[in-house]
Amino acid sequence: MNHGSVERVTTVVVGAGHAGLAASHFLSDRSIDHVVLERGEVANSWRHERWDSLRLLTPNWQSRLPGLRYEGQDPDGYMTMGEVTEFIERFAAVSRAPVRTGANVTSVRRTDDGYQVTSSRGEIRCRTVVIASGACNRPSVPLFHSAVPDSVEQLTPFDYRDPAKLPDGGVMVVGASATGVQLAAELRQSGRPVTLAVGEHVRLPRVYRGRDVLWWMDASGVWDQRYDQLDDLTRARRLPSPQLVGTHERATLDLNTLTSAGVELVGRWAAVRDGRALFSGGLRNMFTLADLKMARLLGTFDEWASENGRDGEVDPPERFAATRVPTSTRLQLDLRSGEIRAIVWATGFRPDYGWLAVPVVDAKGQLLHEGGVVDSPGLYALGLPVLRKRRSSFICGIEDDAREVIDHLARYLAGGSA
Ligand SMILES: Cc1cc2nc3c(=O)[nH]c(=O)nc-3n(C[C@H](O)[C@H](O)[C@H](O)COP(=O)(O)OP(=O)(O)OC[C@H]3O[C@@H](n4cnc5c(N)ncnc54)[C@H](O)[C@@H]3O)c2cc1C
Repeated sequence: MNHGSVERVTTVVVGAGHAGLAASHFLSDRSIDHVVLERGEVANSWRHERWDSLRLLTPNWQSRLPGLRYEGQDPDGYMTMGEVTEFIERFAAVSRAPVRTGANVTSVRRTDDGYQVTSSRGEIRCRTVVIASGACNRPSVPLFHSAVPDSVEQLTPFDYRDPAKLPDGGVMVVGASATGVQLAAELRQSGRPVTLAVGEHVRLPRVYRGRDVLWWMDASGVWDQRYDQLDDLTRARRLPSPQLVGTHERATLDLNTLTSAGVELVGRWAAVRDGRALFSGGLRNMFTLADLKMARLLGTFDEWASENGRDGEVDPPERFAATRVPTSTRLQLDLRSGEIRAIVWATGFRPDYGWLAVPVVDAKGQLLHEGGVVDSPGLYALGLPVLRKRRSSFICGIEDDAREVIDHLARYLAGGSA
């Protein structure tokens, strides 16, 4: 094969979301020549893979990227998808990231001296690659979805845009993390009967002692806990997103809010048999566990505030009512009866490394890495849950991660013991 015409750069970054752009920022800082390959446009996921009403659940003041801070009039508000797209576009422009849009990476393979990256815009040889292609490329849907009768429409958060696009009638939302509770609330508000299948979840109040609960995560240092200091990293990386929504009212959106609005709660959806959805029992235990974990976290915040002399700045400690257990819960539901016309699978997301021809992905489809250093020389990752800290997959978590990962990459290029 003639490699004479193959382009060479030192580093290829895959993906122009905030993570890939942050990598680019630090590569430029260190004068490492690179390109950022993006299959769509800058901030593609926020443009095309989210529903219409979504706002960030992190407050505006927390939208910070290397060299770029939120400077608008509403630091305590929550960005719409248009606003977050603009924010990330501004970051790309300010940091003059060398982004090639419309460049879908179809393979990355090892060579003698680095990697060969093939994309829809040609081939590149490079010494190092930063994988910043996102942790949420595909909705994760249980296999038994294929046993759901055809008369029921099935959607994922990637297809869902607004309630009007769903057929009239009852909706089953599956999953009670951030996406599930937000969509259940929106669908209920549109006047539909909504049933919510609840599995393991993380309950949080929107505001605690007068401050956004994510202010507490930030200030108390909980979000800064490092990946190598956590007792159970695997579990921390799989933790569902907290039940939070970004609204003007800074309202809490927990299961009590949903039951008050008329949403019916059922247990975790476990199987489909003869056209019937079968749900686990044990809602009470699941609620008790989520309430307990929330109380424990709030207790950590209280301790931090008193130990650091911050009690005067915030309201007195509060405790919240336990999650109400319905008097009776259904254990099954006939999907052929017409009661449920649509199902929204809010059962999480997963990455897609179908293009990665390097054996660094485990049987569950997760990348094998140590704080973003992938188990193949010169290969790095950014933007994954608890990559280096608890805050890693949030916008406000990328700056430290990207700096440290690019430091490692620079040492590797310099031939030092990375
Ligand atoms: C529903 C939802 C709500 C969220 N809300 C918040 C929030 O409120 N606050 C917060 O801080 N975080 C939030 N996050 C988490 C996180 O900030 C986002 O997931 C964010 O998009 C991750 O940024 P990223 O750069 O790692 O990945 P992405 O933004 O997904 O960027 C990856 C890029 O890689 C591109 N790509 C993928 N594969 C290829 C390929 N083969 N070739 C070329 N390009 C490729 C994609 O097109 C995409 O543009 C949310 C996530 C989700 C899913």
